[in-house]
Amino acid sequence: MGMYAITGGATGIGAELKRQLLEAGHQVIWADIRDGDIVADLGTAEGRQVAIDGIRERAPQGLDGFIPCAGLPPVARPLSVIAGVNYFAAVETVAALRDLLAMKRGTALLVASNSAPMITSDDPYVQACLSGDEAAACAQLENRDGHSAYAGSKRALVLWMRRNVVAYAAAGVRLNAVAPGITQTPLTEQVMADPELGEAMKQFAGMVPWGGTAKPADIANVMRFMLSKESNFVCGSVFFVDGGSDAMLRSDDF
Ligand code: NAD
Repeated sequence: MGMYAITGGATGIGAELKRQLLEAGHQVIWADIRDGDIVADLGTAEGRQVAIDGIRERAPQGLDGFIPCAGLPPVARPLSVIAGVNYFAAVETVAALRDLLAMKRGTALLVASNSAPMITSDDPYVQACLSGDEAAACAQLENRDGHSAYAGSKRALVLWMRRNVVAYAAAGVRLNAVAPGITQTPLTEQVMADPELGEAMKQFAGMVPWGGTAKPADIANVMRFMLSKESNFVCGSVFFVDGGSDAMLRSDDF
């Protein structure tokens, strides 16, 4: 049985993936701001270090998988916390755990979003994220909106993953990303309740080709496969699990 570590395992997709992995007999170390084996605020440098140290301490023999699932919605404020948790905490924790993953030829599975392609790669905020300069990325968010902050953090995450696939594979680590569509979690509830973004999200949910919104298990089922040895040759992939909404929006873009 495998050893996995996950951030953001208290609610939503992360909690469901943790439940499924435990049910399958794996060991799961989880870090979250609210609860967990490790309680840490991934929005801060100190919190990220607490999470990294806590995982390293509990998995000295290596990790089969790491899933930086913690994320904040477009309605989170200030906007800098979206960049901090969704992008910088994710890439910093993956990088800090790379050697543990390499010990078991493990997988780091990033959690992007079907909103990632809604911001262009050359957006200055996306580029600032990719430069690794958190202060510069946060400065880019002045006069931006929550949707841009969120989608841009996910765009940068996917690009970071794609840029690092070769080096990580050479080190013995598979990198992949899942891109969920609208999923029934506390994050989505917050957006749905927002006076500005709620109506737009409800309209978008009504347009999903396969119909409706995902349950956390719809996403976690695919993630569990992407973490397993059954997906051994899947490397550098972005799996959209979104009921066809990305294909609807970008039908000619591949
Ligand atoms: P959620 O709010 O249920 O879960 C997010 C988790 O992250 C919670 O356990 C929360 O406590 C934790 N978290 C938040 N801030 C933190 C911090 N500063 N430090 C540590 N932990 C923190 O939401 P979810 O929908 O399950 O989101 C999980 C991931 O899926 C996120 O990365 C999100 O961006 C992504 N996602 C969600 C949807 C959706 O529609 N729900 C769609 C695409 C992508």
